[in-house]
Amino acid sequence: MSSTRFDIIVVGAGIAGLTSALALQRDGASVAVLDRHRAGTEASWAGGGILCPLYAWRYPQPVLALAAEGMRRYPDLLASLDSGIDPERWVTGMEILDPIGEGESVDSISATLTSAGIAHQWRRQEIGHGEALWLPEVANVRNPYLLDALIDTVRARGIGLREQCAANGLLLSEGRVTGVATSEGDLHADRVVITAGAWSEALIPGLAAGSLFPVRGQMLRLEPRPQNGLDRILMENGVYLIPRRDGSVVVGSTVEYAGFDKTVDAEAQARLHAHACRLWPQLDGAEITHRWAGLRPGSSDELPLLGEHPSIAGLWVNTGGFRNGLAMAPATADLLADRMADRPTAVDPTPYRLDRLIQTAR
Ligand SMILES: Cc1cc2nc3c(=O)[nH]c(=O)nc-3n(C[C@H](O)[C@H](O)[C@H](O)COP(=O)(O)OP(=O)(O)OC[C@H]3O[C@@H](n4cnc5c(N)ncnc54)[C@H](O)[C@@H]3O)c2cc1C
Repeated sequence: MSSTRFDIIVVGAGIAGLTSALALQRDGASVAVLDRHRAGTEASWAGGGILCPLYAWRYPQPVLALAAEGMRRYPDLLASLDSGIDPERWVTGMEILDPIGEGESVDSISATLTSAGIAHQWRRQEIGHGEALWLPEVANVRNPYLLDALIDTVRARGIGLREQCAANGLLLSEGRVTGVATSEGDLHADRVVITAGAWSEALIPGLAAGSLFPVRGQMLRLEPRPQNGLDRILMENGVYLIPRRDGSVVVGSTVEYAGFDKTVDAEAQARLHAHACRLWPQLDGAEITHRWAGLRPGSSDELPLLGEHPSIAGLWVNTGGFRNGLAMAPATADLLADRMADRPTAVDPTPYRLDRLIQTAR
């Protein structure tokens, strides 16, 4: 019979949960990860895999700090995986055709990117008019492959991965968490980490209503046609094209506040497709092979939630990655592990603390 007691239980096996579990086990803890579905099949699977925020300078500084740190840590994360699956990280660079929005200038954008350590150049556009912004070091990963490689690694390291196992609530005693009530019975642990993405709010007592919510994003994939010539991530007016190594192209994305609904609608898909073909005419006529939607974990102040619950000892949270959860993952997992081990952190943890959104200290 498998054990029901662990040092740490991680609830949710997306990118946040899998990377957190690996970082915590590295510190010597016995760790279990639960997912109510198959691991790695929600937002982390649905995302585009761009390892840099889109229009990065428009995010609050604490988001940019974590994303930039995540970008720097990706090569080490990938090198540490125990799996035969290649996540296909590809440094293609990203070209943004409409970088300068209202109230922004070349100088203001450059200053923000420079302070985050994100290399960039301004250059005359090959397509369209005016100055394009070129980010030469931006990579993308094939995130479904990355998740499979993380799952392999979790298993190879002896972390108990329990799929089809839903957390229904927390076990609490005298102001401490003592485990998780699950669809397979009670599991006990000294500490619990909530990494349940857009579904996390229900598992974090005292969180102000509306602090965490799903934000739908629709995507599509165009058939592999290596001759399409797309050799970089291309972005305009919120629509991006991501080249994959097999010659397919992923196009995204919508940003929709539609509750827990992953419906794909024909009108939004047609708009994405038309925009993609206008941006890169060689895609015209390429067949759409997949259409899908995922639910990003959004937060009311756009910042991740990362830290210990202010009034429930042992309850930790790592969620709220919103549009950048893949890019930030190596940094958020390490920050969580450093905080739980009481070590100094690479990024100031203060802005992500939970007490900003938890109003009732019980
Ligand atoms: C269309 C789209 C495009 C995106 N593009 C990018 C991009 O290019 N770059 C980037 O950095 N980010 C991108 N993102 C954002 C990124 O995908 C997310 O921020 C990130 O995947 C969130 O990871 P997560 O682990 O927090 O959530 P998820 O991947 O959603 O994982 C949460 C897990 O928790 C499980 N769970 C929920 N409730 C319970 C429960 N009660 N018990 C047990 N398990 C539970 C779920 O089944 C799920 O597996 C995109 C997102 C979308 C939707």
